[in-house]
Amino acid sequence: MSPTPQFQCPKCGRVSYNPNDAFHRYCGACHSFFNADGEDESLSVIWSIFENTTDAPGKFVARRFFASARGVQPDIGFTEDTIEQARARIPPGLVRIPPQPGELPTVVESYI
Ligand SMILES: [Zn+2]
Repeated sequence: MSPTPQFQCPKCGRVSYNPNDAFHRYCGACHSFFNADGEDESLSVIWSIFENTTDAPGKFVARRFFASARGVQPDIGFTEDTIEQARARIPPGLVRIPPQPGELPTVVESYI
């Protein structure tokens, strides 16, 4: 029985069977993240971790955004019980930055 294909890279065509790659729409060959339209958004990925939002009281919500000329588009996200669990699911290689002036007070930190 062959494994179920999880994610096919829209750039190089490589198929990944890693559920994490599918979740992040990530190609390990291209080292690229793709948005829902199959566009390479690697240079504009921002992750933010929010604490105690109205839709997830007492939890930590991480959400990926794509920043581009079209504006900042919210993308995939997940909810965890602790900040450590949320941080563990942020893709490696990103730089952690503190909340910026003007951001929502629920923002704990962001990753670019
Ligand atoms: Zn690829």
